Amino acid sequence: MDIEQFRKAGYQAIDRICDFYYSLESRNVVSSVEPGYLRRALPTAPPEQGEDFSKIADDYQQLIIPGLTHWQHPSFFAYFPTACTFEGILGDVYASSVSNPGFNWGCSPACTELEAVMTDWAAQLLGLDNAFLNTTGVGGGVIQTSASDSVLTVVVAARSLYCKTHPGVGLDKLLLYTTSQTHSVGAKAALVLGLKERSLDVNLDDGFGLRGEALQMALDEDIKAGLHPFFIIATIGTTSSGAIDHLSEICSVAQSYPSLWIHVDAAWAGVTLACPEYREICHLDYINRYVHSFCTNFHKWGLVNFDASLLWVRNRKHLTDALDVTPQFLRTAQGDAGTVIDYRNWHLGLGRRFRSLKIWFVLRSYGAEGFRKYIRKGIDLNKVFSTWVSSSPLFELVTPPSFALTVFRMKLPPSKDHHTTSQDFLTRKLFERLSARKDIQVTQTVLHGIFCIRFAIGAERTEEKHVMAAFSLLCDEARKVNEDI
Ligand SMILES: *Cc1c(COP(=O)(O)O)cnc(C)c1O
Repeated sequence: MDIEQFRKAGYQAIDRICDFYYSLESRNVVSSVEPGYLRRALPTAPPEQGEDFSKIADDYQQLIIPGLTHWQHPSFFAYFPTACTFEGILGDVYASSVSNPGFNWGCSPACTELEAVMTDWAAQLLGLDNAFLNTTGVGGGVIQTSASDSVLTVVVAARSLYCKTHPGVGLDKLLLYTTSQTHSVGAKAALVLGLKERSLDVNLDDGFGLRGEALQMALDEDIKAGLHPFFIIATIGTTSSGAIDHLSEICSVAQSYPSLWIHVDAAWAGVTLACPEYREICHLDYINRYVHSFCTNFHKWGLVNFDASLLWVRNRKHLTDALDVTPQFLRTAQGDAGTVIDYRNWHLGLGRRFRSLKIWFVLRSYGAEGFRKYIRKGIDLNKVFSTWVSSSPLFELVTPPSFALTVFRMKLPPSKDHHTTSQDFLTRKLFERLSARKDIQVTQTVLHGIFCIRFAIGAERTEEKHVMAAFSLLCDEARKVNEDI
């Protein structure tokens, strides 16, 4: 493809993307294809002769789009939202047009410098303490691929630090704390690194948030058993129910254990910190005063296209001490002089994408005010939805609504014999019915044995009318479940 052919194909691509967005609402949310549909449609090997791009572009329309689930659809309420803004798309297009691996400052100074400035911008948007800014030269922010990579990276840093300050302690004695509600990122990090993990109990009465007392009991037990708890993941906004660990209590217990690294996983809910009214419930004060690292995904509810997991650390040396492996061919004058950031020492891989560009585009185009407005819209819509749910004779909330997430289940209909059915049974039936539909998507979860439906709002195009239509659809399906029993 030459430059003029690219110009033509590029114009066509943007045109088609725009058409796709105009038609998005009239499409199904969930794809209807059967497993293996694409293998059946594609040749078994690459073509011997190069093909005309217009044919390739047409095949994207005909073969790929039907196999997509539309996370940007206004009636997508599953999992958590995945951001996709036009600003973000353009950021990715430009970034891809100058593809480079960005591992050292010298690879392309703009890539490193924009990332350092953007993580500082984002830190200020969220109200993070100045200690987390790159300008301090001590703390700093870095863009990781995912919240899982962020956890893995800081566990490696924390493990190195702990081993250095506790010589003679075997790796088999190290212990990482999660809770039964922590995202699988915790278990996965322990698995990958061969570390022991203990999942602490949380319960419904505490809103599934970890209490200081439970942590204290675990610390007493484990230390007595000769183990070395060195890391805890506290979650602000769990995936299942949006629960918030009691970070104030966790930090207060941790004061007696200065070697316990506290990582806050706020992958989904962290972006609400942009709005001052949510800073207290997200324990921002404690994040700012005590935690070692903090992560939030701008690619979930933060308007920046996947991937943009932002990780801040209070002390960058803990990352670079653990991860700086510098063979001769990676050495540079600036790196040796320590005057620049070489981001390869802040994550696990070497090369990295130019992800800061899309953050720059989004934050400038929306402004902090536009960003806050979007977050508040999701929360306001969820207030409306959760009020409908809690005042309906068909449903009840399982946990209080959390930001833009509602977790609910079916009520027992008053007329039915309660010995022959259960709320779990009804809710499962409802979920089955919903899963058979293509025009809406929600997800399930189990909270301490209770089967629940999660309804997560936040797609950029979701308006009140979509939430209203979804609720009326839920009521219809719930009535059918009740009729069937
Ligand atoms: C989504 C989510 C994760 C995992 O995010 P990835 O970026 O896909 O790794 C981790 N923690 C929480 C609380 C989440 O909601």
